[in-house]
Amino acid sequence: MRLGSIINGQERSESNRDTLEVKNPFNQEIVAELALAKKADLDEAVTNSFETFHSTMKKMPAHQRGEILRNAADLLEENAEDFAQTIVQEAGKPIKYSRDEIARSVQVIRFASELAKNITGEVIPMDAAIGGENRMGLIKRIPLGVVGAITPFNFPLNLSLHKIAPAIAAGNTIVFKPAEKTPVSAYKLVKLFQQAGLPDGVLNLLMGTGEEIGSPLVTHEKVHKITFTGSLPVGRKIRETAGFKKVTLELGSNSPNIIFEDGNIQRAVTELVKGAFAFSGQVCISAQRIYVQKSIYGRFLEQFIKETKALTIGDPTKEETDIGPMIKEEEAKRAKLWIDDAVNNGAKIEVGGTRNGAILSPTIMTNVEHTMKIVSEEVFAPIVSVIPFDNEDEVIRVANDSIYGLQAGVFTKDIDRAMRVADQLEMGGVWINEISTYRQDNHPYGGVKQSGIGKEGIKYAIEDMTEMKFIGMKLMPKD
Ligand code: NAD
Repeated sequence: MRLGSIINGQERSESNRDTLEVKNPFNQEIVAELALAKKADLDEAVTNSFETFHSTMKKMPAHQRGEILRNAADLLEENAEDFAQTIVQEAGKPIKYSRDEIARSVQVIRFASELAKNITGEVIPMDAAIGGENRMGLIKRIPLGVVGAITPFNFPLNLSLHKIAPAIAAGNTIVFKPAEKTPVSAYKLVKLFQQAGLPDGVLNLLMGTGEEIGSPLVTHEKVHKITFTGSLPVGRKIRETAGFKKVTLELGSNSPNIIFEDGNIQRAVTELVKGAFAFSGQVCISAQRIYVQKSIYGRFLEQFIKETKALTIGDPTKEETDIGPMIKEEEAKRAKLWIDDAVNNGAKIEVGGTRNGAILSPTIMTNVEHTMKIVSEEVFAPIVSVIPFDNEDEVIRVANDSIYGLQAGVFTKDIDRAMRVADQLEMGGVWINEISTYRQDNHPYGGVKQSGIGKEGIKYAIEDMTEMKFIGMKLMPKD
């Protein structure tokens, strides 16, 4: 399968282009060959998106935007299994998690379809200001123009839709640069939107690397906003080079989960086994640090090890597989080095710690220090540290001792404590009696500190993808 960029509805996959192979991370089979975009394609895509914004999208009524999105959701639902199999092939994500991703993606488009018809403004009480009598003030929400969407490999469909669907709902056009590791689902998604009735040029797709295509997209003067999900180093560079554009950055974390002695231990264990190891820990809110109150530490750890050992590792196409490969063998090697480094400094491997090609076995570490990479940096691998604590103040201090702050989980039956801890955790979101890894697509989602800027969650993305326009009127007295 040879795939090219799609600009104004036309695919660019000529044979004289440089190519990039997309390989299945589990068996190294070639999934697709990418015909790469050049800088001239980027300029053309942005110019076309700019023109399409003015010629088409600015005039498209909300009911039509809503209908196109509704069609797209229905089409995705009809083709769910094909999309799920595509994600298994390109990302190595186990089939059951790939199916979950598609189901969520359908919902994301449906939320956007509903919200497209509910972008409302405000009426300002102008007479609240001295001299404001006989004046009227309105706020309208208007689209920005061209949105540049840059997305990661780990939820290639759902995280792309968290940008594309609200951008369409709000009436923008989009230049979409998906992760070069997982471009097949992105290509199919753009085709699906064509089929759903989206006019050419509203969603332009660029196949290319971050350096060659992502970087000049960020600096292009006709792009009004960059919405990015990915790693901290790239996010930092985008923030520095985006100039006057609006920027939303959804970056990494080392999410903490706190289990107090009165928490439901069994539920916490079962959920955290999924939360630490689903998609080999390559999830931005993966449970990386688990703080357990000392009185229940032994009981928790024993059960956590037992349930981790029961996970099925192997072929991501198989229904029973819990753990497949990481995205690249180099990533598994990097993660293994971080484990070795921790062990050399006194940490203990309770289970796992072995690598077979791109597969790293689910690994539980204890006896860790806060300075170790597996604790303080984003590990983005199936590695979790279990750390004992004495009391509330201590655990809040260590949980906050991080450059990141995306989501946390807290397990306790004490409502007062739950609210106290939630207030003090420096996070974009806190879950009580739920793990950090749980996310719904309709709540505000995004980090504080170096986990990001801005929020997604369709309604909140639409707010960031529109501008307020004030219209004031002086009402003339009767002659
Ligand atoms: P990455 O940063 O390597 O790549 C993400 C995207 O950025 C890709 O499309 C890539 O081509 C592009 N890119 C790379 N260099 C660029 C540049 N200089 N300019 C513009 N674009 C550039 O991330 P990844 O490895 O694909 O994904 C993993 C990261 O994403 C992790 O850090 C993870 O925590 C983060 N993530 C965050 C969230 C969230 O919502 N907060 C969700 C998922 C993943």
